[in-house]
Amino acid sequence: MTALIIDGKLVAAAIKESLKPRIASLKAKGVVPGLAAVLVGDDPASATYVGAKAKACEDLGLYSEVIRQPKELIEPALASIIHGLNANKKIHGILVQSPLPKHIDEEAMTLLIDPAKDVDGFHPFNVGMMLIGKPGLLPCTPHGIIKLLEHYRIDPDGKEVVVVGRSNIVGKPVAAMLMQKGKMANATVTVAHSRSKNLSEITRRADILIAAIGRPNTITGDMIKSGAVVIDVGVNRVENPTAKKGYSLVGDVDFAACAEKASFITPVPGGVGPMTIAMLMSNTVTAAEKSTEK
Ligand code: NDP
Repeated sequence: MTALIIDGKLVAAAIKESLKPRIASLKAKGVVPGLAAVLVGDDPASATYVGAKAKACEDLGLYSEVIRQPKELIEPALASIIHGLNANKKIHGILVQSPLPKHIDEEAMTLLIDPAKDVDGFHPFNVGMMLIGKPGLLPCTPHGIIKLLEHYRIDPDGKEVVVVGRSNIVGKPVAAMLMQKGKMANATVTVAHSRSKNLSEITRRADILIAAIGRPNTITGDMIKSGAVVIDVGVNRVENPTAKKGYSLVGDVDFAACAEKASFITPVPGGVGPMTIAMLMSNTVTAAEKSTEK
């Protein structure tokens, strides 16, 4: 079997296109959805992510602000920026780009964001709403994964899903979303992590395998069953002297070997990554719509 390659760029473009009439109708009411990104420090990957998010806003005609701060920024100063954005009527979505410098408590900062503007879906209010299956702002990468599956008519209902990784931003929420009672859910979900024993026995059970590990080539061809759907969330920089930037981006999955056995597989780049940004745009538009209902 040779897998069909899931095209995240194509699905993300379709999602962004579907937002246009909603944005137009908000603009007709005098509301331009606005996203503020706070970037602390000079991590090059973070700067790239924030740049891509601002560009996506621009392409869709959304208002965007990037607030750049030095790595020495103290926590009360960041708190005051967040309070200001909470009160700013032009801003409907706030994201504080991770990772923050070590002296800043990231969880404490997340708690300060107004849950109605928490377009990353990381605030405990939104996490709780997701867990109990109620509407709220969903975390972008997990929601993007579900949208990819939906686009390719891969229904998780009744399937064995194995998620490798248990982070608060990918592993846990995608597992929680897929185990819900409802559409594009109803899966039997197993979550594995670095302390799991016999990882390949667990992953071989998966009809749908989601790798959110952050280590290249962790999922090898012998770890998946024939016909599995493989979703690779990982984004890892590996040295590559022949590449222009001196590195290449690879996922957590041995793409070539798994593509031989899988039914569907996401590439890195061009799989889950573009979906994260599309869902961020979607959350910003949703937050702007909700603000008009108040
Ligand atoms: P974290 O580092 O927070 O979590 C990694 C998880 O993988 C942990 O639960 C860890 O286990 C587990 N793990 C590590 N090594 C192994 C192993 N050898 N076997 C089994 N499990 C292991 O990462 P994130 O969830 O934040 O991100 C994961 C990857 O996804 C990264 O490459 C990141 O860059 C990428 N990413 C991509 C996004 C996109 O839009 N495409 C968005 C967000 C992330 P334990 O808990 O025991 O430590």
